[in-house]
Amino acid sequence: MLNEFELIRRLSGRLPAPPPEVVVPIGDDCAVLRLGDELWTAAADMLVEGRHFRGWASPEDVGYKAVAVNVSDVAAMGGVPRFILASGGASDSETTLRCMDGVMEACEEFGVYPLGGDTTGAATLTVDVAILGQLERVPVLRSGARPGDLLAVTGELGASAAGLLVLEGGGVGSERLVKKHLRPEPRVEAGLLAARLGAQAMIDLSDGLASDVRRVCEMSGVGCRIDLSLLPIAGDTRKYLRSAGRDPETVAATGGEDYEILIAAPEEVVEALKARSETPITVVGEVTETDVVFVRAGDIVENLSGWDHFAGS
Ligand SMILES: [Mg+2]
Repeated sequence: MLNEFELIRRLSGRLPAPPPEVVVPIGDDCAVLRLGDELWTAAADMLVEGRHFRGWASPEDVGYKAVAVNVSDVAAMGGVPRFILASGGASDSETTLRCMDGVMEACEEFGVYPLGGDTTGAATLTVDVAILGQLERVPVLRSGARPGDLLAVTGELGASAAGLLVLEGGGVGSERLVKKHLRPEPRVEAGLLAARLGAQAMIDLSDGLASDVRRVCEMSGVGCRIDLSLLPIAGDTRKYLRSAGRDPETVAATGGEDYEILIAAPEEVVEALKARSETPITVVGEVTETDVVFVRAGDIVENLSGWDHFAGS
């Protein structure tokens, strides 16, 4: 079976040549369109019960998250989320309605207008959101990282993965971690600010830093060196993961669904961002000429990888 990467590569190969309005085609966090004098981002993301979530997520949580993860993709381009279309359904209309209530709640939270969508009966709860975002300048792509840039992340890593472990374990307590998993906080302000200040490349961390930083490096034709001991991991995340017998740094690098933004930028841009961003900004490594390398206390860490959406779960 094809993994998600291979499937997307196959599909991309089948696309016709884009019309001139398409400034950035498939392959980044969003596509970018020039419409009149304006640049707009377009993206979509789908959540499916049994694949992306289980019974521990309420239908409202699922609807909310479907919007939040799309908003995150807009944030990673340096855009402002504006409009969505939401489609989906479940085996009963009550569940569908509750899911769309979550969609609406997120729209209000992120200042996005729900244009419409479609509903259907479905064997399991499924929701797909398409989003349009507006750019005030050229988008920040995955492909702009240059050797010498610093790599920084917004917020914190590993909390969402820890929250997922709490949920899978039927655990109580750790309410903050569970919320980080069910209701991620996309970093729109930080993404916008980073774009304004001159970030070279950005990606939102959906599949885990280890996996997502490789995408930036691949598309930029560069390498990187990430120091796992620098990853911003909150005290409660660290404590919970240790108690569950997990290594906090490994989970923070590979767990996925952080929906933070990874930023590649010259040092002075990172310093300016640190000074002005309300969301904490942490340098976790640097861009190099070649090879993606993870180190910890000076030693190289092998075989770190992230989440594959088509891997068995
Ligand atoms: Mg993304």
